[in-house]
Amino acid sequence: MANDNETFKKIISHAKEYGFVFPSSEIYDGLSAVYDYGQNGVALKNNIREYWWKSMVQLHENIVGIDAAIFMHPTTWKASGHVDAFNDPLIDNKDSKKRYRADVLVEDYVAKIEAKIEKEVAKAAKRFGDQFDQQQFLQTNPRVLDYQEKATAILKRLGQSLEKEDLADVKALIEELEIACPESGSRNWTDVKQFNLMFGTKLGASAATAMDLYLRPETAQGIFVNFLNVQKTGRMKLPFGIAQTGKAFRNEIIARQFIFRMREFEQMEMQFFIPPGTQKEWYDHWKKTRLDWHLALGISAENYRFHDHEKLAHYADAACDIEFKFPFGFKELEGIHSRTDFDLSSHEEYAGKKLKYFDPERNESYTPYVLETSIGLDRMFLAIFSNAYTEEPLEDGSTRIVLKIPAVLAPTKVAVLPLVKKDGLPERARQIVDTLKWDMTAVYDEKDAVGRRYRRQDALGTPYCVTVDHQSLEDGTVTLRDRDTMQQERVNIDTLSQTLAKQVDLRSLLEKLSN
Ligand code: ATP
Repeated sequence: MANDNETFKKIISHAKEYGFVFPSSEIYDGLSAVYDYGQNGVALKNNIREYWWKSMVQLHENIVGIDAAIFMHPTTWKASGHVDAFNDPLIDNKDSKKRYRADVLVEDYVAKIEAKIEKEVAKAAKRFGDQFDQQQFLQTNPRVLDYQEKATAILKRLGQSLEKEDLADVKALIEELEIACPESGSRNWTDVKQFNLMFGTKLGASAATAMDLYLRPETAQGIFVNFLNVQKTGRMKLPFGIAQTGKAFRNEIIARQFIFRMREFEQMEMQFFIPPGTQKEWYDHWKKTRLDWHLALGISAENYRFHDHEKLAHYADAACDIEFKFPFGFKELEGIHSRTDFDLSSHEEYAGKKLKYFDPERNESYTPYVLETSIGLDRMFLAIFSNAYTEEPLEDGSTRIVLKIPAVLAPTKVAVLPLVKKDGLPERARQIVDTLKWDMTAVYDEKDAVGRRYRRQDALGTPYCVTVDHQSLEDGTVTLRDRDTMQQERVNIDTLSQTLAKQVDLRSLLEKLSN
């Protein structure tokens, strides 16, 4: 655990040192849980967003995109249930005066039990070697079964108490499990209270006439209120989807995990409108499609798992998360929710306007059901970034830090380096950048010895380096170095663009997705 913590700290400082993520308004000592993306971070973030957008909108004939405003009519949030129910249960420790999410305290306790199971598995795997059958071990080892039973019982009780809004029982659970404040070590807790996560603001010049507004806590409602606009103007037939990316704001109680939990963040959401009765089939479809989207990036499948929700939100008839193995354990990366007709029906009621669809095949009007996929762009960034961060021991005893970001998403695709700063090599290198820049992000770098420049590009995640040497001037070839293998090959300058495009073009990734 301590090791994972160390790694996470290194990842955070690497993100800052190499211009990926800075604390917001840092010269004023920052703002809690708010971050700025630097010159390399914004490129990675844009590339992830583009991958999501194109896979949703460009590859699906029946999915279109919109960009709704952050401010919405305040009744939107009454109708959506956020005013009444967008709460987190909070608890304070009376000694440290630290505030926690009560459910997260319990979930962290369960994560520790899960870590014990993992330890047992690792121990047994070592003992049995090739003979080891993990599945069988998990199903039969008495100690593991005990742990599993305990973890399931705790989560079930937590889910039920939250469902019933029985906050006294959530506190009782924390006390029974003897959970102590990580800061003070004490078990001197306040009662559990509900806390609404929406940020309020005002619209209008005078205090008397100003209207109370909220910063949107999710992008989804901008899609629901535009359902008919898009359906009619786009002549869309069910099933069809509306996709959107954009900022969302939540006054999170605890925000300690870097960009995992921010107060201002970006979501990428898609609402898929379907005939009632088909939600199970579409739920399974989108679960698979979304997992495939992640796996296409080439990150090992062991880092992902589905987690079914114990406690269903007020609008859902089925829901699960795709969890990712972050440096601090498996946590939610994306949600897939079967939202029934809750949202459209509720807006219909509050707005007093019909939000029905006339189905020419069924020859009837009805309120469509909705299947939602919702992923945090910043969390996806953290998943990619933390997975990419590698400290690799080299043969000469030194260590190189390399960001193994999938080439297609890397901020810079290729760095062109003259071997020395003379003899016409810089000019030739700049010409190559000028040719490549139309198709990919290419940079020129002449500072320091070439070995150090390779290290720097490794640390930035640049998948390819092209080195121009004296031979280049004679025979029109350069060396092409691969970030991950560090292998170099000699290639013709004329074919460089084509060779690289095959590796770094978003198309190569999109083609892996089966639609
Ligand atoms: P959590 O349980 O972690 O608070 P949630 O279940 O409230 O998340 P959703 O409302 O389902 O999250 O939001 C969809 C996605 O938006 C999440 O899967 C996550 O990737 C992202 N997200 C939610 N809250 C934050 C946040 N505070 N910071 C960054 N990303 C977030």
